[in-house]
This record gives sequence, structure tokens and C-alpha cells, in this order.
Amino acid sequence: MSCFTRRDLIYGSLCSAFLTYVPAVSAKTPQIIDVRTWPADEYTRVTIESDAPLKLNYFMLRVADPIRLVVDMDGLRLTDKLKNIIQKVKPNDPYIQRIRCGQYKPTVVRITIDFKQDVSPQIFSLKPAGTYKYRTVFDVYPVQEKDPILAILKKEEEEPDAVQKLVAQVAEGQKRMEENREEADADQLEQILAGIESGTLVPVKPEVQPSAGKTPKPSSQTSKPPVIASTKKKPQKTETKTTSKRRTRALVIMIDPGHGGEDPGAIGKRYRTREKDVVLSVAKILRAELNRLEGFRALLTRDGDYFVPLQRRVQKARAAKADFFVSIHADAWVKPAAKGSSLFVLNTKGRVSSSNKWLARNQNNADLIGGANISTKDKQIARILMDMSFTAQVSDSTIYGAYILNELSRINQLHKSKVEQANFAVLKAPDIPSVLVETAFLSNPEEERKLRTQAFQRKLACAIGNGILKGFGRKAVLA
Ligand SMILES: [Zn+2]
Repeated sequence: MSCFTRRDLIYGSLCSAFLTYVPAVSAKTPQIIDVRTWPADEYTRVTIESDAPLKLNYFMLRVADPIRLVVDMDGLRLTDKLKNIIQKVKPNDPYIQRIRCGQYKPTVVRITIDFKQDVSPQIFSLKPAGTYKYRTVFDVYPVQEKDPILAILKKEEEEPDAVQKLVAQVAEGQKRMEENREEADADQLEQILAGIESGTLVPVKPEVQPSAGKTPKPSSQTSKPPVIASTKKKPQKTETKTTSKRRTRALVIMIDPGHGGEDPGAIGKRYRTREKDVVLSVAKILRAELNRLEGFRALLTRDGDYFVPLQRRVQKARAAKADFFVSIHADAWVKPAAKGSSLFVLNTKGRVSSSNKWLARNQNNADLIGGANISTKDKQIARILMDMSFTAQVSDSTIYGAYILNELSRINQLHKSKVEQANFAVLKAPDIPSVLVETAFLSNPEEERKLRTQAFQRKLACAIGNGILKGFGRKAVLA
């Protein structure tokens, strides 16, 4: 059995590339700036940040008890800061038992990571990004994946005909998307008919084609559902669908708390509130609320403080056969006056306002700041997906998004009153309606204060949840 994963082998060449630009002896020795650990069930990350690239050699000792990874860092002197690495490993880390370090040779510091179980480490380096300098990253994955969705993902990635499988998967997902839309339409019709019969509802003329700019008018005084047009040509079937015909499969909602781990996202000015914490909290409330409902299964792309690369979040949604994807964020702007909620769907072409471009670039930078180890295969998958049609996805996302935005308008001021478009990497699943919610502005002192409260986090979660429910033709019941 090979000791190292495919990515480790890639790193081998990366290492030699390093040799070409690592400063000669006369240059100053690298200084360790910080050592951080991000323990999580999915994987544990250890990051060593330095002011210059580190030159290192490493090997895995599987015959040892415990199994360990030995890393020799060249051109380093052992400092107190580096010794702190030992204290940084949390005792509840699922994979790492302890980390030791010592001055192995006059200019070589040796780090030994003892593991609790057999692991598959991925080691890679990151160039300076955001506020970070050079980083050497050790991602410790379990050999046997425990999470069923990740297990599916890993298996898929290793299959030789992964590309064909992906294309088939997308086709299946697009079919699911269409079924959901038709079903929701039928439910809308039932609700409307019931409303007309009881005299509580006056029929509204359906719009012919929903466009990105169309949002049901936010109105808090009425509870009638906005009537929306189907994104597809009218279904050929003439019979009216009833609830009894609803399929038995639960609707899978993938909730994506933005950022995490190395990537804190936006940081509030007044209380230093971190976006990654607030959005995780909102996401967890939303998951709990949706999971209480019959016919819904809500999942998170991350349930702790660790980073998940953007494409990985989309892949998780696809592996879970998600019916809907919602990424939760908190905004920030240079001017503290900016406030309110906004909602985005993917823009694949056409005009994007410069502020939305800025926002997308900022969010997509998450992979650089959070630290993604992107393989050639990842790039290949991304390219294939981008060649597919997003028309139906964006159209459906706009409808779901409009419902969510409408619900958000009941609990918060809207920053933009219509569904916006931007080129967010996390929204790039051609087969899953996907939206990104900017809950409020962390850069606005008043909204930062609100975002920190459990009450407001709950309001946000319920508003998003109710919007999703309405999008699927169900009643808004979360409060
Ligand atoms: Zn964000």
C-alpha cells in the first residue's frame, strides 16, 4: 500500500520547484509566524505560516506505533513560537494524538505528528493570500471515510470514468430540478384554488417568464403566496398533480455556511465578529428547523470551524443529490452605512455590476485564503461543469431566491430589493438551484450587533427556511 496519496506525489514535484526559488544560505532564515490547527471530523488541518517559503522533506512511518508523519524543515531554528505547536493541538482532535518538535540538525527542525488512527495526509503549500504570508498545510484525512456523503464523493473521484458519470449525474439532477418545479407549480395551483374557494385570495396574473430582476413585491400585510410562472414549457401532462402523488424521497437541502477555518470571511469593526461563526450558527438553526419537518432532509457543507474549498461544497451537494443549495454569508463594505440583506444567483454571462463583480471576486478568494489544494482533476471537473447549460438552474434559482428574499424583507431591510446576479464559484452546479444569501452587513455596527444575537440568527434562518418551503410549494411554518 502506498504511503502517500496522489496529491502527496504532486507535492513531490512542488518540492523541487521550491528548491529553485528558496533563498540561498546568505538570505535570512524563514521565521515561523504562527501555527494553527483546525480539528474536524472531516479532516484536521495544521497550518504553519512563515515569512518565507519553507523547504521540507517528509515521510510517513506506518510501522511505528502510533503511526506518525515526520517532517523535516530545513533552514529553521527552533523557537518558542514553534514549540507552541504542541499546545495548539486540541485534545479532542479526532486524528492527531500529539505533535512534537525538536532541533534535529543545526539547521533542521523536525516535527513529528503522532496519529490516533491510520490517516491519509495531504501536504501542500500556499503562496501569500489575504493577510497571510507563506503557508505549509498538513491536511489529515481518515483513510476510511465515515461521512456517507464524503465516502460517495471519494469513490466517485477514484472511478476511471468519472467524467461520464458526472455528465449522467447532472442530467439526473436536471430532471429532478424539473420535477420539483412542476410539483411546486401544481401545489401553487392547489393553494390558489383553495384560496379562491375560501374567498381569501384574488387570483394574480402569472408572469410569463421570471427574470433576474423580478421579485415578488415584499409585503408584510398579506400572506398570499406570490404566483410564479413555470420556468419550463408547460408540462404536457394534463392531469393535476395532487399531494398524494408526491414522491416519497425527502427533499434534500444543502446548507452552506460560508468560509471557515483559515478563512474567517468578513470581520465586524466594532465587536470583531467573524462571518464564519455567524453564518455557521444561522446554518445550524436552519438545518435543525428543516429537519423537524416531514419530507425534508437538511445537510451542512461544514458543521465546524474548518475550511471546505468552494468546489467541494458544490460536489457535496451533488453527491447528496441535493434539491436545493443555499450558501449563507454576511456582507461587508468599506462604508459602514451599507446595510440590509441581499440574495444572489449565478451569473454566467452578460453584465454584472462592478460592485457585484467585486463581491464575487472577494468570495471566490475564499479558496486562496482558506487554502484549497486543487488537483488537476478538480480543474477538469470545473471546466466540464462550466460548459453545461445553466439556463434552467439560474431561472429556478431566481424563483426560489425571490421567495427567500421576500421572507427576508419581513425581518430585515433589503440591501437590494431584487434577486442579484454574480459569478460566485459556489453557485456553479448546473443541476441544483443555488442561491447565496448575504444576511446582513458585518461592516454596519447596528447589523453587526444584531447578527451576534441568537434571536436575529433565528429570524434569518426561519426566513430562509420559509422561502425554501414556499419555493417547493409548501407552507411557511418556521418561526
Ligand atoms: Zn462571505
